[in-house]
Amino acid sequence: MKRTFVLMALFALLGLQHTASAAIIKKVAPSFWWAGMKNPELQILLYGDNISSSDVSISSEDIQLKDVVKQENPNYLILYMDLSEATPQTFHITLKQGKKQTVIPYEIKQRTTGSSEVKGFNSGDVLYLIMPDRFANGDPSNDIVPGMLEAKVDRNDPFARHGGDLAGITDHLDYLSNLGVTAIWLNPIQENDMKEGSYHGYAITDYYQVDRRLGSNEEFRELVEQAHGKGMKVVMDMIFNHCGSENYLFKDMPSKDWFNFKGSYTQTSYKTASVQDIHASAYERKIAVDGWFTESMPDLNQRNRHVARYLIQSSIWWIEYTGINGIRQDTHPYADFDMMSQWCKAVTDEYPEFNIVGETWLNSNVLVSFWQKDSKLAAPRNSNLRTVMDFPLMEQMNKAFDEETTDWHGGLYRLYDYLTQDLVYADPMNLLVFLDNHDTSRFCINEEAARKTDRYKQALVFLLTTRGIPQIYYGTEILMAADKANGDGLLRCDFPGGWNGDKYNCFDESGRTTKQNEAFAYMRKLLQWRKGNEIIAKGTLKHFAPSKGVYVYERKHGNKSIVVFMNGTDQNQTIDLTPYREVLPGKTAHDMLTDSTITLGKELTLKKRGMMVLEF
Ligand code: CA
Repeated sequence: MKRTFVLMALFALLGLQHTASAAIIKKVAPSFWWAGMKNPELQILLYGDNISSSDVSISSEDIQLKDVVKQENPNYLILYMDLSEATPQTFHITLKQGKKQTVIPYEIKQRTTGSSEVKGFNSGDVLYLIMPDRFANGDPSNDIVPGMLEAKVDRNDPFARHGGDLAGITDHLDYLSNLGVTAIWLNPIQENDMKEGSYHGYAITDYYQVDRRLGSNEEFRELVEQAHGKGMKVVMDMIFNHCGSENYLFKDMPSKDWFNFKGSYTQTSYKTASVQDIHASAYERKIAVDGWFTESMPDLNQRNRHVARYLIQSSIWWIEYTGINGIRQDTHPYADFDMMSQWCKAVTDEYPEFNIVGETWLNSNVLVSFWQKDSKLAAPRNSNLRTVMDFPLMEQMNKAFDEETTDWHGGLYRLYDYLTQDLVYADPMNLLVFLDNHDTSRFCINEEAARKTDRYKQALVFLLTTRGIPQIYYGTEILMAADKANGDGLLRCDFPGGWNGDKYNCFDESGRTTKQNEAFAYMRKLLQWRKGNEIIAKGTLKHFAPSKGVYVYERKHGNKSIVVFMNGTDQNQTIDLTPYREVLPGKTAHDMLTDSTITLGKELTLKKRGMMVLEF
């Protein structure tokens, strides 16, 4: 009797809730937007149990609800609005299903920055790449977030999370500024609520949310603001090709065509050269581009217009919300060419000075060049992607400073030979140049390589004075070493001193070895010198074929120039200066490396692996 009463009361309560309550809305993406954007269209994706049969209305007078699109899955509705007349406001989106009514407040904010105030990164910058989980743990209280799928920290396991976070980066902005970095690029910080391997960030489970183990959206916004205050830009990593398999958009996909191969795992061949290959079979192209990166990274179908708009808007939302200066787009050639082109254009239409670098991991300059904006090889198609990654030059740089240079091969001849082919690029000055990154062996592949001071110094001088936008991987300044053969986790070791109780604190001079301090000071000197140097940022490049193993090149802007002499041999070399007269306007010059005056007579002697960076 008592039991029946309780049950009846429970049913009554449930019934009441059913008739009077609203549908539970699990996601509103984006959660807010702005008035006054150049593109007046706004897509709002709503996710909630069985909402698709709702009648949708909005309370705003100056916003038009243009379209309400149902998906195969009744848990989604995609709304399109016209904001061309919109003023900042909070309006209501009302979903009506019979007696059930759901009201979603939606805010249109006032823009706080103008489009032209968002400055992109360029060849005047040096990017410093940080893997946030591995740099510094500024907030141990967020290491483990209860309820998230990977809720443990194990610094002894290279594939586990280590606890680094945004607070740790913010804590060390002065360190980076002192080193001379002008931009920081963070590996993805968006939520990666995956069962394992979530530390690297490349399996996004919510495009609009900073992973709580790294911090909050607001903390990221503050990080950007503080970096700007210290003269540094911020580049955010984004991934449009795939998401994490724990993403709600995959687990409960709006429609099967949100993902390639209708949402069922089909492995990519990784052979993206097929996109440019004039001989490629249709099979080869499809499996490369539509295949999945891994089973836990489902491949988004960017040809679906709702997917395209969702991704494009997410990038614009982050730019507008945080004021970031650039985006690094992961696995760029794996996504649909036309949609990615449309995306790059949409971003620069909104923010003319913004910059995007696409990860174009291809093994030749011909293939990489195809992906750069205005490439003749891609014409009449155009990627609209200003910056591409010079992976082939990375390969050459990783050999050039170890070998003896001859007139026809080896050593610095590699660099000369590669740069003679720059005509293939639409804009060589907009190439990202780097010695290594989070996916490759470190430039110091092992401790033995890290002990080769000349190699390190020549590589840095070349990297920071050749054409393009240099990028440095965190820890290079303290000679961190790692070989990809030992697994990706070890390429991303913790920066010593980033965790309480670390044995060494390499953020501080006193915690570094003599050798590390020498490496740090050398990089710092070059970076501080490069900062604001218009000759490097904007100057032309002219070079000479290596002779007697010495490579000579000039950077020139207006009537100012820099001439680099680099000896790529293990012997002292005395060279005749006659062939170089066209780049030697004076009889003396200042060598920035030694802060001394060099007299330029008939001949010049360079010590083995010696260099001069002469300023005119
Ligand atoms: Ca932490």
